[in-house]
Amino acid sequence: MQKQLDIMNTIDNISFHGERVVIRVDYNVPFDDQNRITDTTRIESSKETISMVLKKGGSVILLTHLGRPKGIDLNLSCSLIVDVTSKILGEKVIFCPSTIGEEAEKLSKTLLPGEIMLMENVRFYPQETKGEKAFAKELSKLGSVYVNDAFGSAHRAHSSTTIIAQFFEKKYFGKLLEKEIRSIDKVINNGKKPILAILGGAKISSKITIIESLLDLVNDILIGGGMAYTFIKAQGGAIGSSICENDFCNYAIELIAKAKAKGVQIHLPKDVIIADSFNNLANKKVAFINQIPKGWQGLDFGPKSIEDIKPLIKKSKTILWNGPLGVFEFDNFSKGTIKLGELISDATSKGAFSLVGGGDSVAAVKKFGFNNKMSYVSTGGGAMLESLEGKKLPGIEALM
Ligand code: AMP
Repeated sequence: MQKQLDIMNTIDNISFHGERVVIRVDYNVPFDDQNRITDTTRIESSKETISMVLKKGGSVILLTHLGRPKGIDLNLSCSLIVDVTSKILGEKVIFCPSTIGEEAEKLSKTLLPGEIMLMENVRFYPQETKGEKAFAKELSKLGSVYVNDAFGSAHRAHSSTTIIAQFFEKKYFGKLLEKEIRSIDKVINNGKKPILAILGGAKISSKITIIESLLDLVNDILIGGGMAYTFIKAQGGAIGSSICENDFCNYAIELIAKAKAKGVQIHLPKDVIIADSFNNLANKKVAFINQIPKGWQGLDFGPKSIEDIKPLIKKSKTILWNGPLGVFEFDNFSKGTIKLGELISDATSKGAFSLVGGGDSVAAVKKFGFNNKMSYVSTGGGAMLESLEGKKLPGIEALM
């Protein structure tokens, strides 16, 4: 990764005068059932790169995917995001109803410096996810320069995220991609110790690789959320009907031993808020995590557990947060996650570096208004986790 930082060809010192710049963005935004966009962060995050290219004399051709269409699906047409994109960018955005072919090429060639065109969903073409070279070549005909700013898709070797790069002499890292890489580097290569990883969320099974990689990197791991109950059950605790992956109990024990051998301290909650059903309005009370009565389940961090983590967060100089500490979607069980957000915000304001990544912790951070209080909130769940695991992302490799 350090090498990556040294040779990263960013757009800072590039003139785009007269260039038609194909920018692969990640506008895969969520919609509600009335086709309204519920979170525009991904579009907002692309603004810096687009503005910079326009300011330096280029025109912009935006490529993105939207959802997982199987062929052409007008419910996932990029025409649905043109107006919002235009509003956020503060610029007119022309929509091109195709992605490759005669019409697409012709329209892209008529763009004047300062103009922006959004192409139709790249995934309307099944060749995209197969990473087909011929399709990538067609896409490359849309412009003279390629910029990748789609961190959220950088772990996929798709035509528009990876394969396309080979058809351009001039190819660059967009500002978002650059920021994501620099933030991850601040944790995995230049993380100031002590480094704390906070892992929450529902399941341990989906986080095994990341936990294993973190053992070589961090000083402390705080386990919260649904994941904690597998560890407690494995150690003989009574967890009632709390979420648990029985098949991973042995693994949890192994992990505790591995951590010990590597000098990494694993912290588990002592008390939790338990509920008599999986429901926001369920009856609730505080219980020791290893003494949960039958018919009750743990849904949030408890008050003693919150007190316990205060000194841990205070002493940590680098904090990585992935996964909520409880069922934050239920107001009555979101207190632990909110409290954690407050503690990390406070530590950040006092100089710690905090990186939040992975779908649900990002959603929680946004829901409770902590996004501007963390050092960096990643836009890419899978891509961020793979980077932290030390994997090389094909989208990034292709730009080197
Ligand atoms: P993940 O995608 O693995 O990070 O899991 C996130 C989900 O875990 C969120 O939707 C939370 O509601 C859920 N979650 C967190 N804590 C618990 C818990 N104690 N019981 C059940 N689900 C939980």
